[in-house]
Amino acid sequence: MVSPSVKHHCGLFGVYGHPDAVHLTYLGLYAQQHRGQESAGICSRNDGPICRRAGMGLVTEVFNRRILEELRNPIAIGHVRYSTTGSCHDVNTQPLVVNYSRGQVAVAHNGNLINARLLRNEYEEHGAIFNTTSDTEVIVHLLAKPGHLDKDNDVPHVLSHLQGAYALLLLFGDRMIAARDPFGLRPLVLGRVAGGAIVVASETCALDIVDAEFVREVLPGEVVTITDGGLRSQWIVPEGTYRPAYCIFEQVYFANPASDVFGENVHRVRRAMGAQLAREAPVEADAVIPIPNCARCAALGYAQVSGIPYERGFTTSHYVGRSFIMPEQGQRDMVVKMKLSVIKDSVKDRRLIVVEDSVVRGTTTRGKIGALRKAGAKEIHLRVASPPIRHPCYFGIDFPTPEELIASRRSVEEIRNYLEVDSLHYLSLDGMLSCVKHPDRHYCTACFSGKYPMEVNHPVSKLGLERYQLKMFE
Ligand code: SF4
Repeated sequence: MVSPSVKHHCGLFGVYGHPDAVHLTYLGLYAQQHRGQESAGICSRNDGPICRRAGMGLVTEVFNRRILEELRNPIAIGHVRYSTTGSCHDVNTQPLVVNYSRGQVAVAHNGNLINARLLRNEYEEHGAIFNTTSDTEVIVHLLAKPGHLDKDNDVPHVLSHLQGAYALLLLFGDRMIAARDPFGLRPLVLGRVAGGAIVVASETCALDIVDAEFVREVLPGEVVTITDGGLRSQWIVPEGTYRPAYCIFEQVYFANPASDVFGENVHRVRRAMGAQLAREAPVEADAVIPIPNCARCAALGYAQVSGIPYERGFTTSHYVGRSFIMPEQGQRDMVVKMKLSVIKDSVKDRRLIVVEDSVVRGTTTRGKIGALRKAGAKEIHLRVASPPIRHPCYFGIDFPTPEELIASRRSVEEIRNYLEVDSLHYLSLDGMLSCVKHPDRHYCTACFSGKYPMEVNHPVSKLGLERYQLKMFE
C-alpha cells in the first residue's frame, strides 16, 4: 500500500446529450472516487446558465437525490479532487465556473500545470483578480484574453500555453470539450451510452458503471469538441511533435484494476509486474500475502509464477476511506489501523512473502510489517512490485519531498533494516516496463528513473501555486 503521504489527484466525468446526464455523472464520479476524496462537484446546463454544486467530501456526501434533481440537465461535467496544487479548500472545488465576455465556462482539471505560477504572475501584474489558489484558474484567464477570443481554434491555442499535465473537461454554452496534454500524462477516454450520448471519463471503470461502450482514448495533444453535430478533433501541437509519456504510476497504483488505462487492463499489468518480480527475486516461503488493496494483483502474479500459495494476511474494513487522502497525519494513522487487521491464522509461524505495490516514506509499510511480526510471522520477505521511488513528481502526483522519500536517502539494505524484514527486493525498471506490452506506448518513469519527459529546473515556490518550475523541451 502506498504511504498515506502520497496524495492522489483527480477524476473527471462528463456526459453530452442525455436526459439523465447528471445522474450518470454522479455514478461516473462515484466509480472514480479512488482518484480523489477531498471534494466533488458537478456542473450542468441546457439552454440557460450553468448550474453548479460542489463541496468538500465524498460524492455521496456532497450529493443527494434533491440536489441531483435540481441539477438535472442534458449536459454535465463532474470532478472528484485531491488538491495537488492549491490548498484543500471549498474555494478550490471543481468544476470552476466563470463568466467572461463570451458567456460562461466550467472547467474540470486532472493534473498539474507547472507554469501556472508564471502565468498567474503575468496576469496579476496586469491587474487580474484570481478567486482560487488552484492552478486551474489560469486556464479561464487564458480563455478570456481578448487575443485568444478571436481565434477559431481558441481552446487548442489556449492550451498550447500550458506546460505540465492536464486532462480537461470544459463546458461552454454551445459545446463540451475534452482535452489531454501533448504527453498524455493523465488518462482520458470517450464512451457512448445507448441512445448515442457521449461520455468522457478518466478511467474506463466509470464507463462500465453507466453501461457505456468504450469508443477510444482522447489522444495526447487532442482537443475533442462535442456538440449536437457530433465530435470534432483539433490538436494543441501538430500530431507527432511530442513522444507520449503516460504515467506508469497509474498502472502501478492509482487506477482501478478493472480499468483499461493507456490501452491496457490495469489488473493484467499489475499481475504481470508481480510475475516478473517472482522471476527477479525468488525466495522459499509458505505463503504470498498482499498488502491490500493495490498489491493484490501483483501478489497473485507472484504466487502464480512461484507456485507458493496466495493467502490473505489482512482483512480490510470497507467502511473507512482511503487513508492517504486524510489531511492530518494523526487521522491517517488511526484510519490505517482501523482499515487493516491481521488474520493471525494465515501468519503465525509461517515464512511470508509480502507483496507491496510501492514504498514511499516507508512508515506505513513498516507498520504493517510490525503487525505481521506481532501476529507471529516467522520470516518476512518483502517484494515491491515497482522500483524504488527516488524522485519527485511534477505532474500531479503529490509525493513527499525528496528528503522524505525513503529510497532517495537510503540504500536498499538500509531500507530493509528500517522495515525490519528478512529480505527486500524491488522490481527492476526494465522489469516493470516489460509488463506494459503495448508496442507504441511510451511511459513516464521519472519518479523511479529521474528521467523526466521535460527539462526540470530548480524548485521555486514563492506563491505556493506550484513547487517547481520546469521548462518544456521545444
Ligand atoms: S513522475 Fe511518476 S507519478 Fe509523476 S507522472 Fe511520471 S511516472 Fe507518474
